Order: sequence, then structure tokens, then C-alpha cells
Amino acid sequence: MKCVECSKKLGYMEHRNSMDHFGVELCEYHQTRLVKLIEMNKTPIEAIQLYYGLKEAGVKAMLEWWDGNKSVDIAISRVKLNIEIDTEYHMLTHEQAINDLERAMHSFKNGFTTIRIPHVLIKHYLKETVNNILGIMEGLKANIKVI
Ligand SMILES: [Zn+2]
Repeated sequence: MKCVECSKKLGYMEHRNSMDHFGVELCEYHQTRLVKLIEMNKTPIEAIQLYYGLKEAGVKAMLEWWDGNKSVDIAISRVKLNIEIDTEYHMLTHEQAINDLERAMHSFKNGFTTIRIPHVLIKHYLKETVNNILGIMEGLKANIKVI
């Protein structure tokens, strides 16, 4: 039981709190930091789980990356990939849909690809989701080379 950020050994309660709240092993210091980030950005818990899933797979990503216009849930800058977690699919209004499309358009103009991942996918298929993102990264890398 070690913190995935700083490798500090975790106490029983520290570990249990972290697993209950985030589903990831974090020390008290890094839990507090994450709570602040979540409060500031309304980060969905699935974004955190995906971020650490990617980290485990060796991917350097950024949580709540500010792209100049908005905060992106997860960004992988090396291949210019933005990942947004959709938490309220069933409540998507046409205003939200057009906002999403506009945001995606601005990202594309900056050379970034945006993918949206439903939160339930991360809940049930974290490993497969990470593997698919690895595949997308490979594809993007190949495209960057071509250009
Ligand atoms: Zn830590």
C-alpha cells in the first residue's frame, strides 16, 4: 500500500479513505490536493481514475489542464489529445451539445483532438478504455510524423 504519487507508505485508514473516495491509493497530502482540484473544477471521479489508469500504463497526462479557454479533464500534450469525461449523457441538451461541438472545433484549430468518454465506461471498462486511448495515441503519433 503506497501512494501512487509519492510512494509514501499508507496507513490502514489513509488507504481506506483514499480507496473509498477515489478508488486510487493516495497519501493524505495527495488526497487533500486532489480534493482541492475537484472542488475547483468539479472534476468527475472517473477522470481521476482514468488519469491514474493512464499513469499506470506509463502515459504522462495532465489533470484539469487549462488550454487557454477552458479546463480540460485530461490532456496528453505529447500527442495533443484532450479527453473529456461525460457524466450526464441522459441530460444532454441541445445547448450543451452545440457548446461541446464548438469546444471541439476550437481544440481542432489548435491542433488538438478531443475525445469524449462516458463515465460509465471508466467505471466498468477502465482497462479497455486505457488500452483504446493507447491505440489512439499511437495513431496520433503516426499522423504527427506524417505532417
Ligand atoms: Zn503522496
